[in-house]
Amino acid sequence: MAAPRVQLEAMEAEGISGRREDSGVEVVLPPYPAAPAPLCPHGPTLLFVRANQGKEETRRFYACSACRDRKDCGFFQWEDEKVSGPRLAAREAHNRRCQPPLSRKQCVERYLKFIELPLSQRKFCQGCQHLLLPGDWGKHREHQVVGDISVTQLKRPSQLLYPLENKKTNAQYLFADRSCQFLVDLLSTLGFRRVLCVGTPRLHELIRMNASGDKKSNIKSLLLDIDFRYSQFYMEDSFCHYNMFNHHFFDGKAALEVCRAFLQEDKGEGVIMVTDPPFGGLVEPLAVTFKKLIAIWKEGQNQDDSHKELPIFWIFPYFFESRICQFFPSFCMLDYQVDYDNHILYKHGKTGRKQSPVRIFTNIPPNKIILPAEEGYRFCPLCQRYVSLENQHCEHCNSCTSKDGRKWNHCFLCRKCVKPSWIHCSICNHCAVPDHSCEGPKDGCFICGELDHKRTSCPNISKSKRANKAVSKQKQRKGNKMKMETTKGTSMNHTSVTRQKKRRERAHQYLCS
Ligand code: SAH
Ligand code: ZN
Ligand code: ZN
Ligand code: ZN
Ligand code: ZN
Repeated sequence: MAAPRVQLEAMEAEGISGRREDSGVEVVLPPYPAAPAPLCPHGPTLLFVRANQGKEETRRFYACSACRDRKDCGFFQWEDEKVSGPRLAAREAHNRRCQPPLSRKQCVERYLKFIELPLSQRKFCQGCQHLLLPGDWGKHREHQVVGDISVTQLKRPSQLLYPLENKKTNAQYLFADRSCQFLVDLLSTLGFRRVLCVGTPRLHELIRMNASGDKKSNIKSLLLDIDFRYSQFYMEDSFCHYNMFNHHFFDGKAALEVCRAFLQEDKGEGVIMVTDPPFGGLVEPLAVTFKKLIAIWKEGQNQDDSHKELPIFWIFPYFFESRICQFFPSFCMLDYQVDYDNHILYKHGKTGRKQSPVRIFTNIPPNKIILPAEEGYRFCPLCQRYVSLENQHCEHCNSCTSKDGRKWNHCFLCRKCVKPSWIHCSICNHCAVPDHSCEGPKDGCFICGELDHKRTSCPNISKSKRANKAVSKQKQRKGNKMKMETTKGTSMNHTSVTRQKKRRERAHQYLCS
């Protein structure tokens, strides 16, 4: 099964290098000096800066928080740009036009009418992704319409709707049944009574099905998602149209209050947040959003509980570990591999070998989270956590060190465990893939353009910024390695040049409207 492995590593490289800051464009975290940020149809925009080679200061600009592709949202404004009255009015009109045609309330009214209809009149237009009431049938006569929509189908909208797979914006990858069921069982074993589902529509529906079915788990769930199609299937108290990159509720204060009430119920006891953001998304704005949700939860707490943390499951690829832990030091990464339905690379192999790079990051002590033996996990008493069978305890590192599910080997020169495909290179003085280029990429410093250092050690950059950069550079380098591993036969120089070219093209896309 070599091919999937290679594809997987290509994806790992893409997961890292496809990010905005690796294309030379980095997000500037709010709060912004000139708050509030201008609005696009997806709520407040984010401020970006191009890490420009050879120049001290670069002009910062606002762009959409949710859409990486300017085809999906073309908002662009220089930070210091004065926007004229008429242009502002045109922008506001555009933002309004982009909102869903029906209000949240209208959707609920339609849903209530729909479930009253006899089965034979319950139709769904696949082309428009709409539940149809008899009055709508005429307009959709020429479309692909399916009938006899059962109550069970209404309870599983993620199977009725097609997944929005456009990689750059929605990247809707739905949990495979066994991972989803594992999560629901886990949440109930851990005793949670409420789950705030942020970008997890399939988990949301499974929780609700269990709550109404014979299992009677009685867990409540609230879904926050940018995919407005889901509003057709839920009442106001179980779905909010939401952007997780800027904590924007599309239906304003009323929706925020739904979320607040949900988090603060029972003085905040018994609630957990589970999120599975699009993998191309930036960790920084997500972390800012999650901290805002945490703050709302904290408001509702007893004073003497102030040391407590909101329990969180953040589902994300393992190669974001250091980035996530930078923002949430109490999080650890579980070894459980999350499987997806519509993502061929993320499926379980036929042999039972797992291939998914997606993990759960959590602040719940890992020894409380039992991973299923039948899926190939065991308890490591030394690490006090469940790990995959292949992940062996290294007595030198005193930990189960593998991150990707394969058995890693200890290197005594590096004093750590490394991927099985790596060998120790005496020129580089560390382990790397066998056919790496010893000098490493020759681009020099990304900040000032000098060739004698990398941007992580640039004297022209402030210390706090450097810490961030160190991580992203490390990621980028790791990305290069993965690329080298997967583009055997292509010389390093070529890879490096195309990477630079791509990076420039992408930055160009952002800078030129
Ligand atoms: N595995 C999950 C789905 C994860 S896919 C499940 O099966 O339930 C990512 C989800 O995040 C999708 O539902 C997508 O619509 C949503 N999403 C993408 N961008 C978003 C944004 N900016 N704000 C909120 N949700 C978003
Ligand atoms: Zn239609
Ligand atoms: Zn080791
Ligand atoms: Zn080594
Ligand atoms: Zn420099």
